[in-house]
Amino acid sequence: MSKIQKVRGFQDIYGENAKKYRYIVDTFRETFEKYNFKEIILPFVEDISLFKRSVGEATDIVQKEMYVFLDKGGREVALRPEGTASCVRAYIEEKMYAEGGYHKLFYEGAMFRYERPQAGRYRQFHQIGAEIFGVSSVLADTELISMVYKILKKLKIDFKLEINSLGDFQSRKTYTQELIKYLKQYENGLCETCKSRINTNPLRVLDCKVESCKQITKDAPKIIDYLSEESEKRFTQLKEYLKALNIDFVENPRLVRGLDYYTDTVFEFTTDQIGAQGTVAAGGRYDNLVEQLGGPPTPALGFAAGIERLILLVKDLPSEKPLITVIPLTPDYNIQALSFSESLRNSGIKTETLLKEGSLKSMMKTADKLKSDYVVFISDKYELKEMKSGNQEIFYTPEDTLEAVKDKI
Ligand code: ATP
Ligand code: MG
Repeated sequence: MSKIQKVRGFQDIYGENAKKYRYIVDTFRETFEKYNFKEIILPFVEDISLFKRSVGEATDIVQKEMYVFLDKGGREVALRPEGTASCVRAYIEEKMYAEGGYHKLFYEGAMFRYERPQAGRYRQFHQIGAEIFGVSSVLADTELISMVYKILKKLKIDFKLEINSLGDFQSRKTYTQELIKYLKQYENGLCETCKSRINTNPLRVLDCKVESCKQITKDAPKIIDYLSEESEKRFTQLKEYLKALNIDFVENPRLVRGLDYYTDTVFEFTTDQIGAQGTVAAGGRYDNLVEQLGGPPTPALGFAAGIERLILLVKDLPSEKPLITVIPLTPDYNIQALSFSESLRNSGIKTETLLKEGSLKSMMKTADKLKSDYVVFISDKYELKEMKSGNQEIFYTPEDTLEAVKDKI
């Protein structure tokens, strides 16, 4: 029979990679907790308008990459391509703003984009991210960036932090006009996509990876020269605060991000170790988005990290707990083995009851394949054997055996 294969762009994450996935997520979550972020578990499917109105009609994500379908009730829905839009929708819909103060949320899970699959780029991928709603102070930008910085350091990843400011609505508008003027002069040298971007999404031209576009945008006007006084002050302050916290960063005047909703601060954590897919985490401020989606005016900011890219970068996992494998010498001792395994687990010990019955030799072979550190043979006695040394000790009660195991690990 013909085998069924996974759909192009989708992946099974298992074995060592699954361990890395969990380690990465746990590391983020631990740090989020310390910063007092609260989890939000979001739906996978949203009304397609949510993404049109937030990510932006003219973006690659909305134009080309979304998984869109009609549900049986005829609703036009999309598999979420990112998490921020849903967070904002929930913030408004659940009236979190009515509680006053401000809100710090984090989320984790699968996202879907119909992109060309390659190393570090898949059609289903996973993000972990956080958002802060209701704070305009640069304190929030600083803490968000330094939090991600610390997490990536903790994961021992070699990265660079790039920052830029896109200014507020007005400075961005003025700048966009100047940029369009400049790009029009060199229109013929731009790639086909960028030619149309001049009219639909000119900022995105700065982010194009095509060499001829890069050459042209090298001397393009810089957004930094068009910032309003207020935006410039914010950006200067952010840099001051980051320096004070010993956060290393570089300014990248071409950093614009691919989504429409950003204002003022934008940042990316990048690496050159996984080829062209070098951004591992990215984010910024989006002070107009909540209002744009029908909520009260609410300054906000956030970031998302791509877990698959981090999996490619994480080298060492924390050492694993030792494994004890319990082997009934004959089926007569199965019940005794099951109950001894339970008592080990109740003491927090990672325990395998050997599930494959057979000769002593074959059971030992299986225990070895399972990477057991110790085995305990169960018969009218308890033989505890260290796999590496072959050293063996004999006990006559489960209690004594349990104590001996605890002493060893
Ligand atoms: P890129 O420029 O690499 O396409 P992006 O600007 O589309 O990234 P965001 O939408 O900001 O990325 O998503 C944040 C992070 O999610 C990215 O930095 C990346 O680590 C990860 N990511 C985005 N798209 C994919 C994908 N198709 N496969 C794997 N990871 C992805
Ligand atoms: Mg992208």
